[in-house]
Amino acid sequence: MSEEILPQLTAMRRYFESGVTKPYAFRKQQLLVLKKAVIAHESEIYEALYTDLKKSKEECWVTENGFFLAELNDTISHLREWMEPESVSTNLLNLPSGSRVLREPLGVVLAIGPWNYPLQLLFTPLLGAIAAGNCVVLKPSEFAPATAAVMQKIIEASFTNDYILFVPGDGATVIPNMMNHFTFDHVFYTGSTVVGRIIYKMAAEKLVPVTLELGGKSPCVVESDANINIAAKRIAMTKFSNAGQMCVAPDYVLVHASQKEALVAALKNRIVQFFGDKPEENENYGKLINEKQFDRVVKYLSQGNLIHGGRYNKETLFIEPSLLDGVSTESAIMKDEIFGPVLPILSFNTTEEALAIIAKNPNPLAFYIFTSNTMKEKLWLDAVPSGGACVNNTSWHLTNPNLPFGGRGFSGLGAYHGRYSFETFSHKKAVMKTPTWFDPAMKYPPLKGKLGIFKWIIR
Ligand code: NAD
Repeated sequence: MSEEILPQLTAMRRYFESGVTKPYAFRKQQLLVLKKAVIAHESEIYEALYTDLKKSKEECWVTENGFFLAELNDTISHLREWMEPESVSTNLLNLPSGSRVLREPLGVVLAIGPWNYPLQLLFTPLLGAIAAGNCVVLKPSEFAPATAAVMQKIIEASFTNDYILFVPGDGATVIPNMMNHFTFDHVFYTGSTVVGRIIYKMAAEKLVPVTLELGGKSPCVVESDANINIAAKRIAMTKFSNAGQMCVAPDYVLVHASQKEALVAALKNRIVQFFGDKPEENENYGKLINEKQFDRVVKYLSQGNLIHGGRYNKETLFIEPSLLDGVSTESAIMKDEIFGPVLPILSFNTTEEALAIIAKNPNPLAFYIFTSNTMKEKLWLDAVPSGGACVNNTSWHLTNPNLPFGGRGFSGLGAYHGRYSFETFSHKKAVMKTPTWFDPAMKYPPLKGKLGIFKWIIR
């Protein structure tokens, strides 16, 4: 394997060094090629995502191909402006020099994707890397094989493999083989924290910079003054989308004790309204990706009192949208990222009580607060460090390309989307230009006797 892939990666390095990927016209053209190909394969994308995850076309559009195309259009419309040298002011010491920051492509970068949004989470980093002028190796998840096959078809029909190389296969074999034999200029990884740590270690050996988009155990707080009807609607919508297999899904709810009964009733109503009495038969309700994930999530159903749902079917990998209460903070469901359609509902009386529970899993990928009081909103946002956050909403922050998307601590390192993707895949090169007509002797040795003037200039 290593012998086979190395010449290909070396050819990519040569292609990058030829400079062909750097001009604006080339980058824009490749983005248009990618856009055209994704649009042309729309039906195949829907079929593949249905096969892998039972996603409906509507859900695909919002979270996969449509999401991706919106990011791509935003990038195309801003690319020229993002590529402009950025003029910055120059300090007194260096006047009359001029200063600017140039965005340089990094080189040959590796993007690694997970299975839960297999297209969006591989192609969105790809478009950022193309926009920034890089060559890209794409490694899809082996657990969404139908979508990986369509993506491979799109890439191989659109680009030469010395520019964009698609490398499917078992991550634990393919990725170390590449990373240990070739020095990438950046690794962009989306997936679990456990594997993220492995990637980070391999990258550190060669001092390769990384972006790590990792897992989350994102808390959702519902305050005593929250609009309960809206909270239930927005929590249920995100939590049970893609059968709960979403990195920013509300992992558990912390509701003020005074509102628990009302919230539970509203959540039950919304679940039935969204997915019917038999979610297994509902076209808009997804399935677990595979038996391993199914077995893992089913175990959580018995780690509390089931107050809604609880039905499952291993043959169809179906788990019903389920609500639990009476969950111990010491149980596995409150320690692991749930990543499935099971929602524990815990109640609190004081903010301190709720913060102590959140602090057991610090730095979540997202934090959600439902309140109608702006003072409380500020208090909660200040008190909970997280990758991102929504007030009176869940997960939608990631659909705004003007917001950086990423985690902190165990939930990740770095961010992307919109301009942030372009920045992630660019090196910021500091350039100073100094005129030759002004060259004061004061700057040069001998320095003796110049301390006073230095102290005045450098202060
Ligand atoms: P995963 O870590 O199992 O796999 C992700 C990728 O890593 C795959 O391409 C896989 O082939 C590769 N891989 C697996 N084992 C490897 C190894 N030993 N060495 C090198 N590479 C290896 O993650 P997953 O199960 O596909 O995705 C689910 C996780 O991803 C969840 O924790 C979820 O929260 C997280 N996630 C995060 C984001 C985000 O944007 N932060 C988005 C989606 C998913």
